[in-house]
Amino acid sequence: MSSNNRLQRPPGPNRTASASSFAEAFSIARRNLEDEISHEEPVSSSDIPSPALSSTDAPSTPALSSSQLATPASLATPFTEPQTPSLGDSGYDDDVADNFAFAFDIDGVLVRGGQPIPEAIEAMKVLNGENEYGIRVPYIFLTNGGGKTEEERCQDLSKQLELEVSPGQFICGHTPMRELADKYRGSVLVVGGEGEKCRSVAEMYGFQDVITPGDIIKANAATAPFRKLTDKEHANSRDLLERHGVEKLSDIVIEAVFVFADSRDWASDLQIILDIAMSKGGRLETRSETFEEGPPIYFSHSDVVWSAAHEHVRLGMGALRRIVETVFSDVTGGKKLETHAFGKPQVSTFEFATRLLQQWRSTQHGLVAHRRPLDTVYFVGDTPESDIRGTNAMDAKTKNTSWYSVLVKTGVYQDGTEPAYKPRAVVDTVLDAVNHGIEREMVRRRAKHAARDAKDQGGLIQKLATIHVQDCSS
Ligand SMILES: [Mg+2]
Repeated sequence: MSSNNRLQRPPGPNRTASASSFAEAFSIARRNLEDEISHEEPVSSSDIPSPALSSTDAPSTPALSSSQLATPASLATPFTEPQTPSLGDSGYDDDVADNFAFAFDIDGVLVRGGQPIPEAIEAMKVLNGENEYGIRVPYIFLTNGGGKTEEERCQDLSKQLELEVSPGQFICGHTPMRELADKYRGSVLVVGGEGEKCRSVAEMYGFQDVITPGDIIKANAATAPFRKLTDKEHANSRDLLERHGVEKLSDIVIEAVFVFADSRDWASDLQIILDIAMSKGGRLETRSETFEEGPPIYFSHSDVVWSAAHEHVRLGMGALRRIVETVFSDVTGGKKLETHAFGKPQVSTFEFATRLLQQWRSTQHGLVAHRRPLDTVYFVGDTPESDIRGTNAMDAKTKNTSWYSVLVKTGVYQDGTEPAYKPRAVVDTVLDAVNHGIEREMVRRRAKHAARDAKDQGGLIQKLATIHVQDCSS
């Protein structure tokens, strides 16, 4: 295949993954996984992903480390490797990089304030073959953001980056929460996001009874004294008593709280989360005497700040998490509340990403991991505390694939400051990050070839020397 032909290939997905939905992929994977688990030994605690995280923002809790979650194996194994599509003699696309790939954070790297960062569009073109080597490089997206379905987020990103982005290459903060729908089959509280969006996402994930803060305020307006639901919010909020067939709110038990996306009303959401944290076993409008029996509280990530349209970073979900934990202690006479977080920098999220990337390489490019191992993943992010920290922790843990952290200067990280977690490389933009990764791979490839040639030549010289000795002795 000529370089020109490679460049003419339309960018973006070209195989089965774009045709099948994320939900379908999950459902197939879950069936396969159930089969797999039924034949497996239980996962021991030593197998549980647990990066060295500080006590302040790490879930030192069962969230990512015990039966509170679906098993770590299931979290880290969302997909099973599909059958390799038929691709001719080689079995894979020979113009695709077969041993490295990229993963990208979105906010502050590719997009800022809803607008694409100019270099991002060019970077995607380079990955899709518009580079001097004529190779295409597999890539996925891994964001802590959320608040919409994966399909909707991909549609937004496709418009922003001017290429097709498939749900098969996309993970957002709340994606792993999907795995908990089987565990919590009763009522759950879902917080954050625009209007009813997160309720819809949670129901799409399989949660059976999703309650929102609006439902609780509608049932008892005194819950949040300064919050008045708009007519639309009132109409959309559900009648809890009627829906549950009970006479009082204390008959409704919240099994778990999920903060899916950033709160649009911090005061009311804080009040309601704390009410449930202090309740008797999750019963609405009750108070525990010990403050030790509230249901688990999950945040889809713990980024304290993020890069939005404003010149300075904005407060994110991690800030709400800190406030919830701090105020809980204040109002309970010093009790400690341990909440749980998904997303970066949790290593389990990066393991989830590895599986997604393996599946994407296989379905999209015919690169099956055991024949074409993934040596290096370049992760490009703007936030040292989540992107770089998580990538480095994953790199330290993983045996087969190197995770290489690249920090860009277009988001949270401020040029000239010392990043809290040291990246392998610092570059100006995502385009520089992509070029850096590709160049590094090409240098490595050339070095490998040179070493092989030298070895071959060495072998030849040795052989000739042997022949010479033999000739002399004859
Ligand atoms: Mg970011």
